[in-house]
Amino acid sequence: MKELIQGAYDLHVHSAPDVLPRKLDDLEMGRRIAAAGMGGYCIKSHYFCTGERAELLRAVQPDCDFLGSLVLNSTVGGLNPAAVELAARSGAKLIWMPTCDSAYEREHIFGDSRPEKLPFWANIILELEQNQIQNPTIRLLEEGALRQEVLEILDELDGRITLHDFRMVRGRERGRCWSWRSSSTKTAPAWSWISLMNCTIPSPARRL
Ligand SMILES: [Zn+2]
Repeated sequence: MKELIQGAYDLHVHSAPDVLPRKLDDLEMGRRIAAAGMGGYCIKSHYFCTGERAELLRAVQPDCDFLGSLVLNSTVGGLNPAAVELAARSGAKLIWMPTCDSAYEREHIFGDSRPEKLPFWANIILELEQNQIQNPTIRLLEEGALRQEVLEILDELDGRITLHDFRMVRGRERGRCWSWRSSSTKTAPAWSWISLMNCTIPSPARRL
């Protein structure tokens, strides 16, 4: 098993510090990644860009290649091209479409299928609501087509982006679809690109 993960990257790790409780912090996670012979991992936060944090960690612990990312939830303005641009400048390598603030996820958690035990992030949404702090639900589609903000983000990154996880879906909006590969590891010898994760778009707008 260990041979299989030599040099591999885990692209989806929620390490601490975070506003949600996490099992391991970045340094401990980095130590374990290096001890396993893996190349590195991507730090994912639902709320903040981790690009600058990753840069500092690479300097502190050079045997682990820490990668930064950005999730386009409401804390960064949602589908915000400026946030994407600045994340890219900070060295972030993965851009995730909305997770806990996506319409699909909120409908799943707060709709008819509401689970008995809410995830931690759902409590944050409820607390913000109680305190009347704006935290809008985000939709990628409007009348079946990608919203202008999504197109702007794709245009902005055109030419320097590798699109992962884009799948063809007709006539149906799903805010998230990453679980089929979110915990996979991938070998990534050179990170000279940015990847866009967590997005399903309708086929007419697919541009690869
Ligand atoms: Zn996640």
